[in-house]
Amino acid sequence: MFVTATNIHHHENPNSGSCPEVTGSKHLIALDNGKKILLDCGMYQGKGMQTDAMNRKLGFDPQEIDYLILSHAHIDHSGLIPYIVKLGFNGTVITTHATRDLCAIMLADCGKIQEHDTVMHNKKRARQKLPPVEPIFTKADAEQSMHFFVGVPYDKPYRVTKGVKVTFTNTGHLLGSGVVNLRIKEGEVTTRIAFTGDIGRPVNRILRPPQPFPQADIIICESTYGNRLHESTVVAEDKLLDVIKRTCVEKKGKLIIPSFSVGRTQEVIYSLNNFLQQRRLPRIKIYVDSPLSMNATNIFRLHRECFNDNMLEVMETDPDPFGSMTCILFSM
Ligand SMILES: [Zn+2]
Repeated sequence: MFVTATNIHHHENPNSGSCPEVTGSKHLIALDNGKKILLDCGMYQGKGMQTDAMNRKLGFDPQEIDYLILSHAHIDHSGLIPYIVKLGFNGTVITTHATRDLCAIMLADCGKIQEHDTVMHNKKRARQKLPPVEPIFTKADAEQSMHFFVGVPYDKPYRVTKGVKVTFTNTGHLLGSGVVNLRIKEGEVTTRIAFTGDIGRPVNRILRPPQPFPQADIIICESTYGNRLHESTVVAEDKLLDVIKRTCVEKKGKLIIPSFSVGRTQEVIYSLNNFLQQRRLPRIKIYVDSPLSMNATNIFRLHRECFNDNMLEVMETDPDPFGSMTCILFSM
């Protein structure tokens, strides 16, 4: 067995020479019997078309991958699945039920963005008398890639192939997120690999807290925010309430909250709903201006198995804790 990170590219930087850059999570396990397992297939998200060339360089042949095991639905972990399917991946994508459902909307949305960015980019190219380019993948490619998914429950070993079992344990980072715990038996040797994906905070407003994962021989983990400490949720929520009161109640103004990720948006919606329920805020109008977020909220509603006790308790008195929001649809 052989484990590699396929996502590290070297760039020639005029100021600092060659610098390695991580381009979306992807790790490859090659088994002795020739089978290949990919862990996550993340997209590097940057501005417009600048990162497009980096995303197209995979570092492996998608047709050789037998299984893709996915830790969670965020695009920096799942975003290139439609691209590898387009290039001939014909294996199975194994993930939790909730991650599968979130991927169905998030990858389609990502495909739509790729098409949109390419139209803009091609307008620029046309002015420079250059031929048009194709998007890395389209919404239709994303929809096609969903046929390769298999959803499995948390905490139950699932047989991937002969000698390989995977168990997902909750990380509390995003609905459906899990540590990918692999048990690989080759001859007499058993190797346990834990691929953590992203791990959530101990206190999430909605999700169950991260659970300890089984002992492993090899742990592959992310370190993007490894040097930062998060503010406590309670302090963050009090600050949010304070800013809303000052802006929307005292000054009668409008507050715009940029919320870039699926998961984070639902936490903000849930906090706002709590303020209203507990009458800590007067009735103010709240709009969510992202169709993706509203669709994702509907997926959240489907997967109560991921909710923490507090959230389930709240639901006994308030059956729809994401309820009182209005969605403004902006068409792209
Ligand atoms: Zn994530």
